[in-house]
Amino acid sequence: MTNPLYDAIAAPLAARTSAVLTDAAGETLSGAKLHAMAMSLASALAGLGLKPGDRMAVQIEKSPRALALYLAAVAAGVVFLPLNTAYTADEVDYFVGNARAALLVGDPARADSLRAVAARHGALFETLDGAGEGSLVELARLSGPGFQPVARAGSDLAAILYTSGTTGRSKGAMLTQDNLLSNAEVLVKEWRFTDRDVLLHALPIFHTHGLFVASNVVLLSGGAMIFLPGFKAEQAIVWLPKATTMMGVPTFYTRLLDDPRFDRDLVAHMRLFTSGSAPLLAETHVQFENRTGHRILERYGMTETNMNTSNPYDGERRAGTVGFPLPGVELKITDPQTGATLPEGEPGMIEVRGPNVFAGYWEMPEKTREELRADGFFLTGDIGVVDADGYVSIVGRQKDLIITGGYNVYPKEIELVLDEQPGVLESAVIGVPHPDFGEAVVAVIVPLPGQSPTPEALRAAMAASLAKFKQPKHIELLSELPRNTMGKVQKNLLRKDFATLFAPASA
Ligand code: AMP
Repeated sequence: MTNPLYDAIAAPLAARTSAVLTDAAGETLSGAKLHAMAMSLASALAGLGLKPGDRMAVQIEKSPRALALYLAAVAAGVVFLPLNTAYTADEVDYFVGNARAALLVGDPARADSLRAVAARHGALFETLDGAGEGSLVELARLSGPGFQPVARAGSDLAAILYTSGTTGRSKGAMLTQDNLLSNAEVLVKEWRFTDRDVLLHALPIFHTHGLFVASNVVLLSGGAMIFLPGFKAEQAIVWLPKATTMMGVPTFYTRLLDDPRFDRDLVAHMRLFTSGSAPLLAETHVQFENRTGHRILERYGMTETNMNTSNPYDGERRAGTVGFPLPGVELKITDPQTGATLPEGEPGMIEVRGPNVFAGYWEMPEKTREELRADGFFLTGDIGVVDADGYVSIVGRQKDLIITGGYNVYPKEIELVLDEQPGVLESAVIGVPHPDFGEAVVAVIVPLPGQSPTPEALRAAMAASLAKFKQPKHIELLSELPRNTMGKVQKNLLRKDFATLFAPASA
């Protein structure tokens, strides 16, 4: 009887007396204790009547016990459905209903509203708080750690992760045991993780980056984690001396660079810094290298596919690119209209195929057919380009593509020019409705602290390097860009803010 994911990431913990997790207070948890915690929680799930294949929605704070609950779900064959802690009860209602969850686990502080959500959908409700306590833990203590992991096949579902859904309703990406395990195996090898590694883990664990990339990779390699509830630069600076590796989103790196205590000596011993989930500015990459001597390894992935590409561990980590397709991942660039493969150097839809690619959207067969081709290639929705050396760069999301006066404009091309200008920290380029052009290009600029680049100077710079139709019709200075928890710029919010900029004045 096997359960491949459990056997690979959880079973080895049972014999491990050394620390696998260290929390922000410095408390350590041995592998054996984490394993026992997971098995007791698995017993509790079985005791509640959950069967293999049932869905468990969890909206809980990050804690060692929350990670144990993920391992418990793997052991019990229960499909893990983690939810962003920022979601309101109304939002949670959609996920619990859509997934027909059998159990909702939520924070006791929100028990009243979440219990009502669970009741509305015929789901059970239990609690687990950020300190690792709650009604589910009481049940686990009564049940004890004597749980026998259930048999699973690699094709069985391990998790459903809902996409962040900036347009329309979120879709539940169904991830199999094989999807998760194959990707973790590749990443351990590519990034050289071993049992001597200690990862500074400050990512949320409701998202693929913190839950699968970070946690699965460390558990599979037998390494350890400094498990922080979130990212704070001053806390990271305290813990970095005890780590060998860190996985981050770009904002982790910009915030570290903002802190003068973050210097070469502090991280001289570190082996690897990786970045993903949002584009790392080439400038951040360069600044980081100048400050520390380390070159951040940028990689690219998404909820539906796990990780697709990575810069090389050995070899050139090229700023502004996401590297090469990972072993086992096929990647092609196609014409978004016709699906035909495009020649090297031309931007188009990134399509990927491999053991990492999800099994489809939960109970959305049409959406699945639209985005997952019959031959196994998944249309990522990202526009990318592959250079002559094989490095992949992301040009933007297809839905961010601007069509102005019939011309296609990729915002990234304009953002790169703007980011180079004196006084500019970063920029976001969007398309907004325009009565003549269909859409008009609008640039939002965040100035460097204490500087105020003038729209005239920016216009002159763009006129020198961009065709007229690409030049923004409006430039707006903002103190910061709206970002989600993973550091992604929320262009949908900017589009909303500027939606009526060119609306004809009402009579
Ligand atoms: P999510 O499903 O929330 O992980 O979001 C996935 C999306 O994040 C991808 O489709 C990309 O648009 C974006 N993304 C992830 N990694 C990178 C990266 N290194 N550079 C640029 N965009 C990225």
